[in-house]
Amino acid sequence: MTREQHSCGIICEHGKPVGIVTERDFVRFMDRTDDLNTLDQLTVGEVMTPNPICVTGNTEIAAALDLARSHNLRHLPVVRECGEFCGVITLTDLIKALSTMHSRNVGLRDENSKLRVLAIEDPLTGLPNRRAMEVDLSHAAAVATREDRTYALALIDIDYFKKYNDNYGHPAGDLVLKQVASILNESRRDADKLYRYGGEEFLLLMPFTQEEGSLIATNRMLENVKARAIPHAYSPLEIVTVSVGLALSSDRLSWKEVLENADSALYHAKETGRNQLHAGFDQGFAMKHCAAQASIQEFPRPSPS
Ligand code: GH3
Ligand code: MG
Ligand code: MG
Repeated sequence: MTREQHSCGIICEHGKPVGIVTERDFVRFMDRTDDLNTLDQLTVGEVMTPNPICVTGNTEIAAALDLARSHNLRHLPVVRECGEFCGVITLTDLIKALSTMHSRNVGLRDENSKLRVLAIEDPLTGLPNRRAMEVDLSHAAAVATREDRTYALALIDIDYFKKYNDNYGHPAGDLVLKQVASILNESRRDADKLYRYGGEEFLLLMPFTQEEGSLIATNRMLENVKARAIPHAYSPLEIVTVSVGLALSSDRLSWKEVLENADSALYHAKETGRNQLHAGFDQGFAMKHCAAQASIQEFPRPSPS
């Protein structure tokens, strides 16, 4: 054992383990004996622990570790199904294997949570995607119904974006998409949530919001995009602008219908000049109370070309 640097020896009969001898067995034996002179005549059979607890190749690492710990064993002979000896597994081997498995599991868990994030996140802008939006909208709608409150939805669409791509190239278009996404995201209120709805369209969910609040929140976004003045030589204002379609929930409408109303409002905002906000509800009342009124009305309305 010393020469081969083995910390245990397995004693077999007809290929099956009948005993195990470890350094600990020798020490234990020497502790017990008074006459150390007899050591020369000592046989392995006198020192070994008979009938060692064995495992098979199919024993799970955790079960083997349990066995080793509960019987205070540092070595477990491994046998084939027929009982024939085929190897030894040590406590150190078991702990190493368990720690490798643990690291692999942690890796897999990290991978899984990354995949989960990817499934709900738009890779270009980092915003939650349409799938996440649908989950959140049905939740927001349920909460609004239960609490008898309203929520507002705004569809925000970059104006003349095709022209931007056509003239500056798709990679430059991607950069603008990222810039606009971050301006909109930084402009939103904490309780509101912004999604990439698709292409160059974003959706803003404003829970517990009514006409005035939604107008102020979305108008701020429109203004902030304009204030960044991202050059766009092929847009009438020569900067990147957005149009906004706004709609308010009601207890008669599903969230999909509210979304359709926001889409129709966006269509009107586009049709009547772009770079403006159009609400699917009666803006008149809200506008009287809305600080955004002046800025909404003073928007230039370039005709599409
Ligand atoms: P409008 O003012 O009416 O909104 O006109 P538009 O040109 O912005 O709208 P249109 O629907 O005609 O074109 C949308 C463009 O958005 C076309 C498409 O190539 C571009 N687009 C959509 N998704 C992406 C993207 O991920 N990256 C880039 N670079 N462009 C995109
Ligand atoms: Mg669009
Ligand atoms: Mg557009």
